[in-house]
Amino acid sequence: MGKMIYLDNAATTQTRPEVVEAMLPYFYENYGNPSSVYEIATRSRKAVTEARDIIAKTIGCENNEIYFTAGGSESDNWAIKGVAEAYRDKGNHIITSKIEHHAVLHTCEYLEKLGFEVTYLDVDESGIVKLDQLKAAIRPTTILISIMYANNEIGAIQPVKEIGDIAKQHNILFHTDAVQAFGQLPIDVKELGIDMLSASGHKLNGPKGIGFLYIRNGLKVRSFVHGGAQERKRRAGTENVPGIVGFGKAVELAASNLKERTKKEIELRDYLIERVLKEVPYTRLNGHSKNRLPNNANLSFQFIEGESLLIMLDMQGIAASSGSACTSGSLDPSHVLLAIGLPHEIAHGSLRLTLSEDTTKEDIDFTIDQIKEIVDKLRQMSPLYEDFMKKLAKNRAE
Ligand SMILES: *Cc1c(COP(=O)(O)O)cnc(C)c1O
Repeated sequence: MGKMIYLDNAATTQTRPEVVEAMLPYFYENYGNPSSVYEIATRSRKAVTEARDIIAKTIGCENNEIYFTAGGSESDNWAIKGVAEAYRDKGNHIITSKIEHHAVLHTCEYLEKLGFEVTYLDVDESGIVKLDQLKAAIRPTTILISIMYANNEIGAIQPVKEIGDIAKQHNILFHTDAVQAFGQLPIDVKELGIDMLSASGHKLNGPKGIGFLYIRNGLKVRSFVHGGAQERKRRAGTENVPGIVGFGKAVELAASNLKERTKKEIELRDYLIERVLKEVPYTRLNGHSKNRLPNNANLSFQFIEGESLLIMLDMQGIAASSGSACTSGSLDPSHVLLAIGLPHEIAHGSLRLTLSEDTTKEDIDFTIDQIKEIVDKLRQMSPLYEDFMKKLAKNRAE
């Protein structure tokens, strides 16, 4: 078997060698605790500041508006629970969408148990939140709108600026989970009216277990981890210095070639989608054909199980996903695919392919050939397909 073809970059990405290189000194020579006073600690303190500066510049905020966390899930939890607690006097209503990551959905469900009220907005058939429904959902007690920047399964990019405007008009805070968008789309939090934004290192070729939450200055968001005075007393715990340094490096690299990289990915993505739709019958694209993340293709193949397809692709050295990593292992179809209106049986036959800048046309050609062969094989074994073909033949004969 040849090399592995990794097409699951929405689940996680390879850490760039430059990132690992940048991190290493902070395990060895510069291992000091940034809170200490001696010289060796000064070095790690300085490195944390530098990473914070890089990240702040990338999203157009002040460096003291960036708070390092242990990843996207923590940032989402903090943003939502932190606002819920701090603004409880003002109201108990939160608006989010049905296609959020579980880090947002399960946090909202948890808050419902504590007495908060949550509206889960529908999306249209391409996975976009409906703005009139958002406006209609606003109540005097609404304290937070949390809507993701771009979806991790179908790549749908939300109308973030419009949502930010609506939130501002109604004096409601706006949090966005930008874990997938950050590093793929240019983001300016001030221009977009974003009050809080979550991001994660390992989704853009940085290390795992490091993320940040942007909190606009002036917001009353409760501290999430209590303890020491780190992160301006809002997130205790000795800083993950190597992680922060690696994250900073990954962001710098991602920002330096964002345009060229994503242009190349879009071309390859569209080539992949076009060929599959043309060459594999009874197949559909999930999400919008243009308004989607540069690296995301999500397809449903009728009459087959996505899980079987995944296993057989894996045997050919191709790593892909049938839903989000968090839901595989469960038999329920993805909540995102159901939210865009797919019937269960079609949602079950779905495949998510997410590219990286290292993905080549050869990788994609090989993958398409394998998909064609495997889908055909699986359909030959499918009683549903057999019935369908019999009916089709009968209708044609009549
Ligand atoms: C991966 C992901 C998360 C979780 O981030 P972690 O750093 O793995 O905790 C949250 N939201 C979205 C949209 C994601 O894709």
